[in-house]
Amino acid sequence: MKKAIRYLRFSKQGQSVCSIERQEMITANWLKFNEVELIDSFVDEGKSARTFDRPDFIKLKDFITKHHKTVDYLVVDQLDRFSRVADEAITMVKRLQKTYGIQIVSVTENITFDYDTPGSYFRAGLQLLLAEEENINRSVKVRGGIYTAKTVKGRYTYKNPPFGYKKEGMEKARVLVVDEYEAKIVRFIYDSFLRNMPIYLIRRKAEELGFNIKGNMAIDRVLRNPAYAGLIKANSHQGAPGGLFPGIHEPLIDMVTWQMVQEKIKRPEKTRTIIDNEIPLRGVLKCHCGTPLSGAPSRGKSGRYYHYYKCKHAKHNNISAIKAHEQFLQICELMSLPMSRVNKIRAESRESIDRELEFNRKNVGEKKKQLQENEEKLFSLEEKWIKNEINKDTYARWHSIYNTEIINLRGAIERLSANRSLAFEILETKLDLLTDLRQVYESSETIQKREFVSLVFDSNLYYQNRIYRTPTMLNILSHNHLKMKEKGLLIYEKKEGLLLKDPLSGE
Ligand SMILES: [Zn+2]
Repeated sequence: MKKAIRYLRFSKQGQSVCSIERQEMITANWLKFNEVELIDSFVDEGKSARTFDRPDFIKLKDFITKHHKTVDYLVVDQLDRFSRVADEAITMVKRLQKTYGIQIVSVTENITFDYDTPGSYFRAGLQLLLAEEENINRSVKVRGGIYTAKTVKGRYTYKNPPFGYKKEGMEKARVLVVDEYEAKIVRFIYDSFLRNMPIYLIRRKAEELGFNIKGNMAIDRVLRNPAYAGLIKANSHQGAPGGLFPGIHEPLIDMVTWQMVQEKIKRPEKTRTIIDNEIPLRGVLKCHCGTPLSGAPSRGKSGRYYHYYKCKHAKHNNISAIKAHEQFLQICELMSLPMSRVNKIRAESRESIDRELEFNRKNVGEKKKQLQENEEKLFSLEEKWIKNEINKDTYARWHSIYNTEIINLRGAIERLSANRSLAFEILETKLDLLTDLRQVYESSETIQKREFVSLVFDSNLYYQNRIYRTPTMLNILSHNHLKMKEKGLLIYEKKEGLLLKDPLSGE
């Protein structure tokens, strides 16, 4: 008596091709009619038929490799249950027969696949191709539904809500709702990124706060996710434009911040430096040869560690970090501004903020008008589309144009009407800091120190013969540069040709 094994797979919804009873009956009939004995069954439940690494399929393969000599048939309920991808399934079916001499039988379709019988091969192949075709149709329909949900209805269609949101409601009425606590962490991530905190540090601090997404790219993905700006990303679908569309959920990040972050992500990252609080200037301070100085500890006679800034070229710089820092603090002291100067800046700044406010007020009015115009255009475009006055391509093209314009205008309005009283406040409280830059620098965190150096010296701070040197320095902080030179702290020599010689510097 010939022997068969059976492979049965249920779809995601737990359905088999036809009712279980009916299938059992068909299978039993086939076995009886052909005088075949069933010796084992393998059942897969609810996994996709897309690939062959499903749990029970693997057991089936193991079984076949071990017992193929005693098996003549592999009985399946339907051929495409093997794999939704036709060529993959054909290869598989072919291999089973060629290698193991096992014939595949589809009982519900009444096909015995025999590679050596031309008609049977064609039928089986056709069956598999039809199944794949049907599958493609289904997925196009699904994608179309997703596209409409995203673009027209502004719905977030992914299964899991992004960190910072919860999902509320059922099925199509499901919406993203802000999770206030997580939202704070998301805002922290965006703010820190704009403040130049390195990603690894953002991740560590966010995790301390309760950020629970694992993976190296987790922070990066948060920074790139348009959902946080209230936008939904849709892929283009059958000629309709893809892109970002306004969602119905509440944004966590304002449009300006989001756009700034995207801009910043696009910029190529400078060489990575590992932050070390003992040597904050590592990678920022350069050797006179142009190489950024590296920093390293070395053990002194007492067994204590001392830090040094070194150039990779042996005879260049090798400076004690303590000495370099003390010297830099003295420079900070001399960069500090006298109170009279600060008061003058304060007055001038107030004036300029007032002017900006006035300008923004006018500008916001203009932008609001433009926004309204664009919204009206979009509305009338939709009307024309509904009345069939324009074709799909025209609709899609202009929809995308107006939509982008509307998103940009909303961002601009938000930015221009931002509350400036905060700027005023910062100005009032922080301007005095300019009178004591030593204290400012000393009390800063390492990242801020590095940012400070890059900003003040435009990333051009060098060291040679025990003296700091720079060709570029913030004008306002360079008022004491002659004194700095006299004391052997810093030589500020403006680069010839690049900048005009300062007539007051006496050089
Ligand atoms: Zn060097």
